[in-house]
Amino acid sequence: AKNAGRNAVCFFDPEMQAVATANATLATDLRQAWRENQFLIDYQPQVGADGRMSGVEALLRWRHPHRDLVAPADFISTAEETSLIIPIGRWVLEQACAQLAEWARRPDRRHLSIAVNVSVRQFRHPDFVDEVMTAIADAGIAPHKLKLELTESLLAEGIEVTVAKMGSLKDMGVTLSLDDFGMGYSSLSYLKRLPLDQLKIDKAFVKDILTDANDAAIARTIIGLAQSLGLSVIAEGVETREQRDFLAQQGCLEYQGYLFCKPLPIEELEQFIDRQAG
Ligand code: C2E
Ligand code: CA
Ligand code: CA
Ligand code: CA
Repeated sequence: AKNAGRNAVCFFDPEMQAVATANATLATDLRQAWRENQFLIDYQPQVGADGRMSGVEALLRWRHPHRDLVAPADFISTAEETSLIIPIGRWVLEQACAQLAEWARRPDRRHLSIAVNVSVRQFRHPDFVDEVMTAIADAGIAPHKLKLELTESLLAEGIEVTVAKMGSLKDMGVTLSLDDFGMGYSSLSYLKRLPLDQLKIDKAFVKDILTDANDAAIARTIIGLAQSLGLSVIAEGVETREQRDFLAQQGCLEYQGYLFCKPLPIEELEQFIDRQAG
C-alpha cells in the first residue's frame, strides 16, 4: 500500500485522507486475515429464568498477528464494504452448525441452540437461503437449533423481499430473532408481518434500565409487544442482578450478559457447561 497514494483520488482534507488510508489498510488486513484463518468464534451463553443455559450466541473474533483482539465493531463494516462478510459469514454459519452437530450427540448439550449474527449484505445475497439450507443439511442438524439474529436494517431493502426471504428461512425450520430491536426505524406494522420467533432487547436499553425511565419504558414496550405477537423475548447486556430482576418482573425470562457469562472460546464454554451441570 506504500505507493497507493500516487494513483489514489486526491483528498484535500488531511483527516479524510487519514481515514481513507486507515480503511484501505484495514481492508487489506482483513483479506489477509481471511486467507490466513485469523478468525475465531467466541460463544456467549443465553440463560433462562431458572439460570439454565438455553443456548449461546456466536460472536466473531479476529486475532490480528500484531494487535490485540480486534473487536467486531471495528471491522464488520469494512468486511461488509469489501464483501468479505459473505465468505466470513458463511464460515461462521458452518462452524455453528458443526458445533450443533457435535452437541446433538451429547445428552447434556443437545438442548442448546446457537444464534448467528447475519449482516445485511449477507442476507441480501441471492445465495443466502441456499447457504443456510446447505449448512444445515451438511451438518445434519435440527434446523430450529440454529437461530439467525437479523436486524431492522434489513427492512431498508424493502418489506416484501425481506418478508419473502425470512419466510423461506422460517419454512426451513430455522429460528429467527430480531436483534437490536428498537434501535432502528422499523415500524410496528412491519414487525407484525415478519415471521419472527424472538425479539432481542438491545443492551443500550438494559444498561440504565433501573435509572432511566425512558429506557425502562422501551424495554417494557418491547416485552409487551413480544407477548402480544406471541414471540419470545431475550435481553442482552444484563450485567447485574437488579437488571435481571427488573426484566423478569416485566416478563422477560431469557437473558444474556456478563452477569451470567462473558463470551468464551469454545474450550472454556465447554468447561462452563460442565460446571453448570455438575
Ligand atoms: P450484538 O449482536 O449486539 O452482540 C452483543 C455484543 O454485546 C457483543 O459484542 C458482546 O460481546 C457484548 N456483550 C455481551 N454481554 C455484555 C454485557 O453484559 N455488557 C456489555 N456492555 N456488552 C456485552 P461484540 O462481541 O463486540 O460484538 C459486537 C457486534 O458485532 C455484535 O453486536 C454484532 O452486531 C457484530 N457481530 C459479532 N459477530 C458477528 C458475526 O459473526 N457476523 C456479523 N455479521 N456480525 C457480528
Ligand atoms: Ca447479536
Ligand atoms: Ca445488540
Ligand atoms: Ca449491535
